[in-house]
Amino acid sequence: MTIRLFNTMSRKIEEFKPLTPGRVGFYSCGPTVYHYAHIGNLRTMIHSDILKRMFIENGYDVRHVMNITDVGHLTSDADDSGEDKMEKGAARENKSVWDIAKFYKEEFLHDYDDLNIIRPTEMPHATDYIPEQIELVQKLEQLGYTYEIQGDGIYYDTSKFSAYGALTGGAIDGNRAGARVQFNQAKRNPTDFALWKFSPRDVRRQMEWDSPWGVGFPGWHAECSAMSMKLLGAHFDIHTGGEDLSRVHHTNEIAQSEPITGKPWVNYWVHFSFLVDKSGEKMSKSKGEFLGLDALRRRGYDPMAYRYLILLGHYQTQLAFSWEAMDAAAAGYKNIVRRVVDLLKTAPEALDNARFDQWRKKILAPVSDNMKTAETLVRIQEMSKDSDINAATKIALFEFADRLLGLQFIDRARKMLALENTDVPAEIQSLADARAAAKAARDWAAADNLRNQIDAAGWSVVDTRDGMKIIKKA
Ligand code: AMP
Ligand code: ZN
Repeated sequence: MTIRLFNTMSRKIEEFKPLTPGRVGFYSCGPTVYHYAHIGNLRTMIHSDILKRMFIENGYDVRHVMNITDVGHLTSDADDSGEDKMEKGAARENKSVWDIAKFYKEEFLHDYDDLNIIRPTEMPHATDYIPEQIELVQKLEQLGYTYEIQGDGIYYDTSKFSAYGALTGGAIDGNRAGARVQFNQAKRNPTDFALWKFSPRDVRRQMEWDSPWGVGFPGWHAECSAMSMKLLGAHFDIHTGGEDLSRVHHTNEIAQSEPITGKPWVNYWVHFSFLVDKSGEKMSKSKGEFLGLDALRRRGYDPMAYRYLILLGHYQTQLAFSWEAMDAAAAGYKNIVRRVVDLLKTAPEALDNARFDQWRKKILAPVSDNMKTAETLVRIQEMSKDSDINAATKIALFEFADRLLGLQFIDRARKMLALENTDVPAEIQSLADARAAAKAARDWAAADNLRNQIDAAGWSVVDTRDGMKIIKKA
């Protein structure tokens, strides 16, 4: 099937042509593990997952690399200044930077798995690729793209790269205006950025490494250029990230990479729009207040309902999060699951291959056409209501839809069926009742504790619109 994607570089929807037939290599900018991921970060990860699943269902062999940023870049992305995010996280929790990275990476992966996002083929850590980042800076130095600011670091001279800013067209002016406020006067151009920062003389950093220029740490764009080229080659198909990354981070990644490769480095740039709050404000970790997936779980939402909410929107449009929208998505998701429950209750019958093929294409087509997931969801609804399709074929199509969208319709329907069929033992019921009381008293710690006890006994408790349900785990 033809695949089309919006390419930020050309600002057009383009037909996808792989570098190697039948294969696709893509790189996603991953999380900075100094805090929990918020549901905005996770929106970006869900869209990357849809991109991957769409390629898989179109028969591609997918190689997906996503970095884990475990070395601190600085809080001001535009100007290589401010506090180090990782060190800030460590100070907040009185732990070492390494422990912080380990803890939040595990928490991130827990969310990733709960949202049924397929794990990347490779998940390189920035701290494991310091020699490659140093080598990148050395190559740029040999090619004459760098200069040193005494006591500060090695900088990239953006005036040397004639295509600088091509990704967002006009980014150079935008950056100049933005950077003027706190422009580092020692830089030759406002858009220049650090490739290697020196450790301050008087402070010992927890993360620092030797380099040909002295002890320090890499600038925050270096890891993505170095690791993507190492793991995907000097030229690869797709690079993804949230919309904020195109103007500075990806623009600088291109400036670092193309002088080395001597040719276009990435064929398609795909950016996902932000999750915002009701007032249009971006959800952000550095502001300190944000919603994580756990906040949704605590309020009783199935992570699949959040995934469904995201897929109701388009990746190129910002999505305003609200509890009302979340409720509507949870109800919509559950309606589909209920329909699958009814299908599972019907007697076995023969698969109608012709109809299956016809509807499989109908469901796959919108996602392949610039990831129109909402349209695919409409087609799934149509399919489920079509009286010309028998139950066995509908179930097979739901299995296909689950592979494509990762919404776990069949799994949740089986759980719902089990719920209808299982008697809950008295001791589990009383733990669940105590948890409901703790929740009503907003004693989240006690409620979590009770949930863990219920979990450990092989049951799970789910808060639904129809009240609390207790399910025997499969
Ligand atoms: P970070 O952990 O901040 O490095 O971000 C990880 C990914 O989440 C990056 O691709 C960001 O562009 C993306 N991101 C950050 N904030 C949001 C948001 N509010 N909505 C969607 N994606 C976001
Ligand atoms: Zn990156």
